Amino acid sequence: MRTTISIGSDLQIGGDNFVVMAGPCAVESEELLFAAADAVAAAGAGMLRGGAFKPRTSPQSFQGLGAEGLSLLTRAAQRTGLPVVTEVMDTRDVALVSEHAAMLQVGSRNMQNFPLLREVGRQSKPVLLKRGAAATIDELLLAAEYILQEGNPNVILCERGVRSFDPSTRYVLDLAAVPVLRERSPLPVIVDPSHGTGHARYVPPMARAAMVAGADGLLIEVHANPAIAKCDGQQALTPEIFAKLMVNLHALAPLCGRVICTGAAADSARATRTLRASDQDRPNTDQVHRPNSFDDEVIAP
Ligand code: PEP
Ligand code: MN
Repeated sequence: MRTTISIGSDLQIGGDNFVVMAGPCAVESEELLFAAADAVAAAGAGMLRGGAFKPRTSPQSFQGLGAEGLSLLTRAAQRTGLPVVTEVMDTRDVALVSEHAAMLQVGSRNMQNFPLLREVGRQSKPVLLKRGAAATIDELLLAAEYILQEGNPNVILCERGVRSFDPSTRYVLDLAAVPVLRERSPLPVIVDPSHGTGHARYVPPMARAAMVAGADGLLIEVHANPAIAKCDGQQALTPEIFAKLMVNLHALAPLCGRVICTGAAADSARATRTLRASDQDRPNTDQVHRPNSFDDEVIAP
């Protein structure tokens, strides 16, 4: 029996459901966060992502807005009805992050931070556990066990690419990990083609491939204006390209036995927005032309 995980009161990951989590790499400002959140909600994402605590390779790089970023995420969630997934890096922040997030993310760099795994295992929110860039599938599953062992059964595994020899992509997105994980574990599996490829133009094809490979969802970086992003702008989709990708995924879902899910809160917030925007040219999935083929010339930025 595969595990199905409830996010908040009305969204489920697992089973036939396919959940798209999308938003900026980092929470940078109210304006940029709300623009991305509104766009991904309008396009039919099921959850909002965004980092308030950012694990950056260089200590000189933007480290995230911290607690202020969490408050902005809560306001974005209220505005859109989208539950939030955001990273926690420090055991001391687990309680604070779980007040603001519907799901806690443990990033690839912390996949084997055992005190952190134990701490997120002791709280009740679901945990998105990302595969370390040099971790085997067995190591990912053993890391998940640390969380499960503390009493939290709600763990979602995330393939986000592993380090290899070829710099053509940022990491090598291991899509074969999806069927392997599904064979070895009942936990839902999602794929992050943004960090997995590092280039926006490769994200849509790998996102579609992830659905075909059997993933239960996607984690995708979307920025209102990728050119000015403080973090990972080169791999962020614009709202327009994300909306087109969602159209592709809706076309593919029935072939893969999947239903793309959003929670009831997001559905009603979207319906209200559509009513308010009915006289304007606001993007929403109903207005997007549904192509018969995957038009990557259109999708590539
Ligand atoms: C992220 O998703 O924000 C992130 C930092 O990804 P990863 O941990 O996979 O590098
Ligand atoms: Mn990122």
